[in-house]
Amino acid sequence: MSMLQHSTRAWGSPSRYIQGRYELENMKTHTEVYGRRVFFLIDVFFFADYKKRFEALYAGSDSQIQCEQFGGQCTEEEILRCTGLAKALNPDVVVGIGGGKTLDTAKATAYFMGCPVVICPTIASSDAPCRALSVLYTDDGQFDRYLFLPANPNIVLMDTTVIAASPVRLTVSGMGDALATYFEAQATHDADGATCAGGTGGLAALQLARLCYDTLMEDGVKAKVALEAGALTPAVEHIIEANTLLSGIGFESSGLAAAHAIHNGLTLLPECHGMYHGEKVAFGTLAQLVLANASTEQLEEVLGFCIEVGLPVTLGELGVDEVTREKAMIVAKAACAPDDTMGNMPFDVTPEMVADAILGADALGHYYLD
Ligand SMILES: [Zn+2]
Repeated sequence: MSMLQHSTRAWGSPSRYIQGRYELENMKTHTEVYGRRVFFLIDVFFFADYKKRFEALYAGSDSQIQCEQFGGQCTEEEILRCTGLAKALNPDVVVGIGGGKTLDTAKATAYFMGCPVVICPTIASSDAPCRALSVLYTDDGQFDRYLFLPANPNIVLMDTTVIAASPVRLTVSGMGDALATYFEAQATHDADGATCAGGTGGLAALQLARLCYDTLMEDGVKAKVALEAGALTPAVEHIIEANTLLSGIGFESSGLAAAHAIHNGLTLLPECHGMYHGEKVAFGTLAQLVLANASTEQLEEVLGFCIEVGLPVTLGELGVDEVTREKAMIVAKAACAPDDTMGNMPFDVTPEMVADAILGADALGHYYLD
C-alpha cells in the first residue's frame, strides 16, 4: 500500500558481507584491498591468540600491522585512546574483532582516522555488526549517546568456526533480535514510517526481513540443537546469516516499531538487567503481536518457536518475579516516548494499550508454557 506513495526510499548495508569457516585466516587478503597499514582492535578474550596469528600471517609481507587490546567499554575516552594508539601507524584500514562494544569502538576509531573498517564479530547475538552506528557509554557503563556514522562497515566478516564455539545462549539471543525484524519491518511499511537508513523502507529490505523470519522458522531449532552438540551444520550457517546480515539490513533499511520500543522500556526494570538484548526483544515481539491482534496461528508459531529455542515468553522468564500493572506501565510509557519507534506502528498507540499488550503477552506465554 505505501509503495503506491512517493516517499523517499533508502537502503543501507555493508559493502561486503563474507561468512565462512576459518574466514579469519583470510584476513591478509581482505585487508590488502584497502592498503598495507592495518590497525587491529581485538577483544581481550581473543587478543593473545589472534595477535600471534596475525603476526605470523603478515610475516614477510610488505604490510605493517599493529594489534591492540580493547579496553572493555565503548566510551569516548576509549575511542580517543585507540585513535591515539593508531596515530603513528596512520592506518589504511581498521579491523575490529570481538563483541558489539569492541566492534562499535573499531567503527568509531576508523571513522575518526578517516579509513575503511573491517568488522569481525565473534558472536551472532544481535543485528548490530552491519549497522552505520556506534553506541557510546559513559565510564560507569550507562548509555551515553549514539554516534551516527556516514557509512556502514566496508566488510563484515563472520568466521563461523568462531561463532559456533561461542555460548549457545548468545546465538539464541541473536535469533530473538532477528525474530522482531519482519514484524517491525511490516508495521513500518504499513505505517509508511521512517527507517534508520534515512527514508522509508523499499521493497528489497522488506523481502530480506521476511526471509529472516522464514529462516528462523526453518532452521532455528535445528541450529540450536546442532550448536549444543558443537556441530557447525548448514542450519547454523543460515542462522548466523539471518541473525547478522538479514536482521541487520532488515532493521536498518526497513524500520523498527513496537518490539524494540518495548525492549527499550524493559531496560528500565532492574530485574531484566541480566538478560541479553535479543531475549528482551523476543518478548517485545510477542507484545507487538498482541498489540496488533495477530492471528492465533501467527502467535502460536512465534510462541512455539520461542519455547523451542529457549527465548523468554513471560516476564517471569525475563527475571520479573512479581508482575504488576504499574511495572507494565513504566515499560509502556518509556516505549511510547516520542523519540522511540512506537510511532512506526500503523495505528495510534497509547501507553495503556502497550501495558495491556505486555500483560496480555505475559499471560499468553504462561498459557502456552503451562
Ligand atoms: Zn535489536
